[in-house]
Amino acid sequence: MIQVPRGTQDILPKESYKWQFIEKKLHEIAKNYNYDEIRTPMFESTDLFVRAVGGSTDIVNKEMYTFQDKGDRSLTLRPEGTAPVARSYIENKMQHNVEQPVKLFYVAPMFRYERKQKGRYRQFVQFGVEAIGVEDPLIDVEILSMLMHIYQSFGLKNLKLVINSIGDIDSRTQYNKALVEHFSPRIDEFCHDCQTRIDSNPMRILDCKKDHDHELVKSAPRIYDYLNDESKAYFETVKAKLDELDIKYEVDYNLVRGLDYYTHTAFELMSDAEGFGAITTLCGGGRYNGLLEMIDGPAKTGIGFALSIERLLLALEAEGIDIPENKGIDIYVCTMTDQARDTAGTLLHKLRSRGVSADMDYENRKLKAQMKDADRKKARYTIVLGEDELQSSQAELKEMATGETKKLSFEEIINTLEEL
Ligand code: ATP
Ligand code: MG
Repeated sequence: MIQVPRGTQDILPKESYKWQFIEKKLHEIAKNYNYDEIRTPMFESTDLFVRAVGGSTDIVNKEMYTFQDKGDRSLTLRPEGTAPVARSYIENKMQHNVEQPVKLFYVAPMFRYERKQKGRYRQFVQFGVEAIGVEDPLIDVEILSMLMHIYQSFGLKNLKLVINSIGDIDSRTQYNKALVEHFSPRIDEFCHDCQTRIDSNPMRILDCKKDHDHELVKSAPRIYDYLNDESKAYFETVKAKLDELDIKYEVDYNLVRGLDYYTHTAFELMSDAEGFGAITTLCGGGRYNGLLEMIDGPAKTGIGFALSIERLLLALEAEGIDIPENKGIDIYVCTMTDQARDTAGTLLHKLRSRGVSADMDYENRKLKAQMKDADRKKARYTIVLGEDELQSSQAELKEMATGETKKLSFEEIINTLEEL
């Protein structure tokens, strides 16, 4: 039997209503903050991710679905959304847009070849936002405030926002030097990846999942001490504004995030709900000041975040928050005879074309079974069509919640429901 590919899932109707609810809310909040939707292709030139995400990252090293197409191009299924958005910004010359920053969001599947575990899929859906074109602590704060707004709007409470500043490229260079000095003498005690990272991107040693508890990680120099005055001032402004807005956060000097392109503000949102499981990161993001230039774009800066709907759902589950189920249909038409079934078909056609959601029995079931079916489909009203009803073109419209009935012509039934 052919099965769904490892690390992927079918989202069946008993789950898909949750996705619809979440996606609708995300669209609303994006609108609130005046971010517009962008849709980029599901695959891109492999080169885009290699250059933008960076060769020292897990994404590029281990997780990409890369293939040659029939024209011998190397393509990669999109593993993240920032690089494609940056590519599109450059290609469509959005730096010349009148309104800056350009504020974009996406809701799109991402693909990573990962080890399957709870909250970790090989295809997952990210909601992400990017504000490109202006460097201003106020925008960093807008992004963080939107992030918190999103999670809080679902009623989540066990949230922990962790922030850090990685500083500008200058600060970062100084800091990397200090890290190399710190780790070099004992780098052989670290995992294979970290032994490469010390050359390619030493900061990522702090982010290593394997060597997380090594004493040298704990005693490593703090990025904060290497921030130049400008970077420090930027970070202080972001924090002061967050305080002003009463957005709670913790500073974690070891938070460096996986990607190569981050500068200044970096952040993660964690769930500290009991029973969440091993992976507690709900969302990650940060400012990227070098990214556009890395892919031959203008010297424009940006900031963004990405969250996955899969982990948002886990957080909701962990906090016991239910998502309202879709409402049922407006009317279920029960039938007693073959001729009635025929008339019901015509009636459904009229109802539906007037915007009324309607259904009937297609299995020739007994009336009692049809009523059960109407209940299951959460029908707000029912009618029963038998010989009398066909003769008179009238039926008893029954409101299921109250049991109230009203005798109406078919046309009146359609009108009444359309008005509702
Ligand atoms: P992790 O450390 O968990 O691997 P990451 O640093 O790779 O996360 P990002 O690339 O920052 O994650 O992606 C942003 C968000 O997307 C994460 O915080 C997480 O919520 C979600 N995410 C990342 N990878 C997956 C996945 N394989 N399945 C589901 N959600 C994911
Ligand atoms: Mg990852």
